[in-house]
Amino acid sequence: MQNDPKQVDCIIIGGGLAGLTLAIQLAKNKRSVLLMEKNSYPFQKVCGEYISMESWDFLESLGANLGELNLPKINQLRVSAHAGFAIESELEMGGFGIRRYTLDHRLAELARETGVEVLENCTALDVELTNGIYSVKATKGTFNATIVCGSYGKIDPSFVERKGHGKGKYIGVKYHIKRSFPDDLIELHNFKNGYCGISKVDDEQYCLCYLTTTKNLNENGNNIKQMEQNVLMKNPFLRTYFSESEFVNEKPIAISQIGFRKKTTCQNHVILLGDAAGAIAPLCGNGMSIAMRSSKILAAHLDDFFTQTITKQELIDRYTKDWNGNFSFRIKTGFYLQKLFGKRLTTLWMLKLLNKTPKLLRKIVRMTHGEKF
Ligand SMILES: Cc1cc2nc3c(=O)[nH]c(=O)nc-3n(C[C@H](O)[C@H](O)[C@H](O)COP(=O)(O)OP(=O)(O)OC[C@H]3O[C@@H](n4cnc5c(N)ncnc54)[C@H](O)[C@@H]3O)c2cc1C
Repeated sequence: MQNDPKQVDCIIIGGGLAGLTLAIQLAKNKRSVLLMEKNSYPFQKVCGEYISMESWDFLESLGANLGELNLPKINQLRVSAHAGFAIESELEMGGFGIRRYTLDHRLAELARETGVEVLENCTALDVELTNGIYSVKATKGTFNATIVCGSYGKIDPSFVERKGHGKGKYIGVKYHIKRSFPDDLIELHNFKNGYCGISKVDDEQYCLCYLTTTKNLNENGNNIKQMEQNVLMKNPFLRTYFSESEFVNEKPIAISQIGFRKKTTCQNHVILLGDAAGAIAPLCGNGMSIAMRSSKILAAHLDDFFTQTITKQELIDRYTKDWNGNFSFRIKTGFYLQKLFGKRLTTLWMLKLLNKTPKLLRKIVRMTHGEKF
């Protein structure tokens, strides 16, 4: 491949976990990579910050050195219904807690050390393909590449037009808090039209993050505090956490228009990975692992493409087949599970059933998780 300074092997749009881990793998394979991220590291992101253990070895293999961070290992689950009825279970594989502020920053530094050109504060505005060469117009200039990958997350940038994909109806809100809470526990508390998770992360903090509908917020005067007071705090667990914790930042970070489903692996000739290709409902707690695993699958096929073992069409076909085989079922399961949560009676009925059949609960958790990669 040509390494003209103005044409790199691969441009990656979006520097979250999918984009950063793809960039590092390609750079390790001696490919020239330019990664565009619209924010500048480190920055906060709405996310429950519980990563299923399936990703630990992969992150270590890239050089993330997670071991030195003394991260909490989480292997207990508690789920409550609206009025506080709760069930508990062990998590077979479990996970670990780390702030995205810490992890994304660490991976961005690692990407740079590996040779990736990381352009921060750089928003991709348009992608064109002319005579087999991609050209990405961005706020910091126009850049050319042999391949462009899109890892821009759940919300499509303005240059992507997808038919039949309206705006998602969910909002996500996240705080970091300090309080007394077990290191090894993740809790998921239901409230009307939503659920809220809490678990430990790095720096002696706890992530308190919830998902609910835009409608819920609208019905509470578009006021997050009012909604928390009127809706979330009806759950006795959440009443305690919201009223008796030290909030690291008083104001939460929030995102809107989120939807959860499989989208597509290639759009306007851009190969998609992470949430851009399809997002799983957060209650499954493994969107981050799916994002990173998709980067590993794609990196292998890209390597075959760059060594001219396969054509671009074969690259897209093989990646799409692997993506569907690995994630379609998990994302569908998460979609239907999410429908059961948030509704008062359905949630209570389901938790009572799972309380009597712990094997079923373990099976459901297994259906949404993958093996180590
Ligand atoms: C409320 C909530 C809770 C969650 N909790 C968990 C959890 O506990 N565990 C878990 O595993 N998953 C969780 N998830 C899912 C998880 O956050 C995502 O699956 C994961 O972040 C996907 O990574 P990604 O790299 O695909 O996207 P992202 O991490 O969203 O990264 C995309 C990046 O692209 C950048 N970008 C976007 N557009 C452009 C552009 N035009 N130009 C340049 N840059 C751009 C963005 O700034 C962003 O940094 C949760 C999601 C939500 C909504």
